Order: sequence, then structure tokens, then C-alpha cells
Amino acid sequence: MVSCMCKSKNFVLYFWQVNLHASAYRDGSFVDRFFKHDSIKSRVRQIKERGLFKVRQIGQSVLGKEIFCISAGHGKVNILIWSQMHGDEPTGTMAIFDLLNFLGSNDLEHVRNTILSQCTVHFIPMLNPDGADFFQRRNALNIDINRDFLAMQTPEAKVLLNAQEEIQPAFAFNLHDQNTLWSVTGSRKSAAISLLAPPVDCNATVTPSRLKAMQLAASVYNLLHTKIPGQVGRWSEEYEPRAVGEVFQSRGISTVLVEAGGFVDDDEKQLVRQLNFELLLHSLEQIATGVYSNEKENTYHRIPLNNKEIFHLLIRNCKVASPAGYIKADIGLNYTEELDAAGKNRTKMFSVADFGDLSTWGAYESIDVRNAVLKGTLKIDAVASFNIEDDKGIVLSFVKGIKRIQAI
Ligand SMILES: [Zn+2]
Repeated sequence: MVSCMCKSKNFVLYFWQVNLHASAYRDGSFVDRFFKHDSIKSRVRQIKERGLFKVRQIGQSVLGKEIFCISAGHGKVNILIWSQMHGDEPTGTMAIFDLLNFLGSNDLEHVRNTILSQCTVHFIPMLNPDGADFFQRRNALNIDINRDFLAMQTPEAKVLLNAQEEIQPAFAFNLHDQNTLWSVTGSRKSAAISLLAPPVDCNATVTPSRLKAMQLAASVYNLLHTKIPGQVGRWSEEYEPRAVGEVFQSRGISTVLVEAGGFVDDDEKQLVRQLNFELLLHSLEQIATGVYSNEKENTYHRIPLNNKEIFHLLIRNCKVASPAGYIKADIGLNYTEELDAAGKNRTKMFSVADFGDLSTWGAYESIDVRNAVLKGTLKIDAVASFNIEDDKGIVLSFVKGIKRIQAI
């Protein structure tokens, strides 16, 4: 592999060109988070017919749905990228098809040739098709596939392990979505992307292969943190021996966990999808050129940790009646999503998460109600059901958890 500053600098230019045109590679089959296995089958069939990449079925789910592997390139370095082992975490799947569109395009030939001549990239999109069709984390046996790599009771975990043993990848990317309430220490902003080089033991020992994963994660951090300041985090190094990242890292595969989180006004994860596309493309180029190995281990440790210091909605400066008269307080609310029968449209159901001085917290949306008065009951952990009113009328209203009026 070649490693020189000249190539590194060149790629910075290439990267921004790609970024500017990212929408050209955006796969139109996926427009929200709720696509099903049928969409994957249809796209995989089209990709196979085009004949650019090697496409094969490598197994099936509990309910007999096909799990595919698409391989691109002819280089010596094998890279394995899989997504959606948790069925309700679809962002990585969208990014994989965007990346396949780029690799199959005629654009930026120097970038594509570098990647495809040095590496063979094996993509397994949607490892948990049954979970995806139910839009649930677990598989059809109600087992968390990412806690099944010791017991190996799920066919989906076996498919991934067989793929690893057959492909013998040097690098692996494990693509997930994280809860949108994770934030980044020091910023009070949502963690749009979180990274982890999974540990190989309780002491988070830095083995040679794990060091490469840390350097790759550091390189991704350097790429993204100026673009989305305060929104790139590092996941905890807590050792989970049942998880695939730990198992692969222990086998000497440099493994990076990518968690796609939340971003303001990005409920359907389309911006975070683009960030996934960009970071994967960047990582492939870094591996193909070897440039990532210039990164310092310390850079990885300096990526701020994830924490929970944000709400979905923060109402500031509300007057609330108490036995001692009115007090002024902030109200932090979070929502859960309730899907309709078709599993497509969702309703946000708000609950009260905290109440009091929340001036040190952040939020996706903050509303200063300027001393308007709360009418109704306010109870921690209860479904929001109250009005906030000023002398002109209702400015904000929740009915059984659903936000009905927002006049501010
Ligand atoms: Zn996950």
C-alpha cells in the first residue's frame, strides 16, 4: 500500500468533490427509515444484472429471507462492511447502496481505481431482514444478534461469522444507529456519528489490529468534526464479549463500530446517511493508500465520549403553580415513536423527562415560553398532557403525549 502526503492532500480535494455531488449517488430506492427487505431484493437484483460487482446470497434469516453479499474491487485487502443487524437501524444500509452507486459510477476514476485496485470490499446490507420488516431491533426469534456471537443461536449471526471466515477481512465496519438522545460531552449537541474501536478485553488493550481501527476512527473524526462541530462522539470501551465487534477485533480484524445518531430536522436520517457515505468512502481510501497509519493513537482517545445531556424538546422559562405560589422552571421532554399498522407513519409521543433548572442541558428544539403559565398536571416520566398559556391564549399544548399547538 502506498502512503504519502501527496496522495493524502489530493484526496482532500477529491473528497470535497464527492461531497458536493453526494446527491448524485443517493439511492432513490430509500427515502425514509422504513424500507423493507423487498427493496433490498429489488436493488440487489438490479446490481447483479448490471454485472459490475459480484453478487451472491450467503444465507437466510429465521423466516427464510435472503441475506446478500455484494463484493466490489479486486485488491488484496479484504474489507467487510455490514449493516442493520438491528432491524430498526437502517441508516448504514442506505449508505451502503449510495456507496455502491459511487463505486459503479464513472466519476472520480482515480479515487475509485485506488480503492478497487487495492481492496476488495464486501458489503452485507441488512443482516437482519426479519427485524427490518418488523422495524424492531431483534430478529424473529426475539434475540439480539449482536449479543449472540458466543452462543451462535441465530442464523443471521452464523451468516456473518461464516462470511468472516470465508473472506478473512483485514478490516470490518459494523454499521448501527444509536438512540437520538445520545449527545457529545462538552457540546450539549446530539451525537450525529459515534465511533468505537471495540475492545478485545476488559482492559481495552491496544493490540496491533485494534490500533489500526483506532487510527481509522481518528481519521474519520478529523474528517467530520470540523464539518459538524461537537457532533462526533466516541462510544464507551466497555467490553461486551458477546458482541461481534469484540469477537472480530479479538480475531485480529481491525473493526470499527459506526453509530448513526440524531441531527436537527433529520428524522428520516437522510443527512446522517450522507455522513455515513462520506465516512465510509473516506475510510476505504485511507485503507487503500495506507494514509490512516499516520494518525496518532491519542487522537482517538481525544474524541469526546458520548453522554446524555440533551432532550428532544426543552421548554424554557415556564411559570408553574405550586403551593408556595408560581415558580419558574424549564421542562425537558423526550418522545418515543408509535408506528401505524403499516409500520410506515409514526406519531411522536412526548413524556416529561425532567423539570427544574435545565439551563445546563441542550435540545433538538428549545422554546422560550417567556413566563407563560402551565395549565394541567406536570409529572416526571408521565405522558405530557398540559397547556402552556399566556394572556393571548394557548401557546403550546400536549394532548395525551401528542404536541397539538405550537404558537411560539
Ligand atoms: Zn445497533
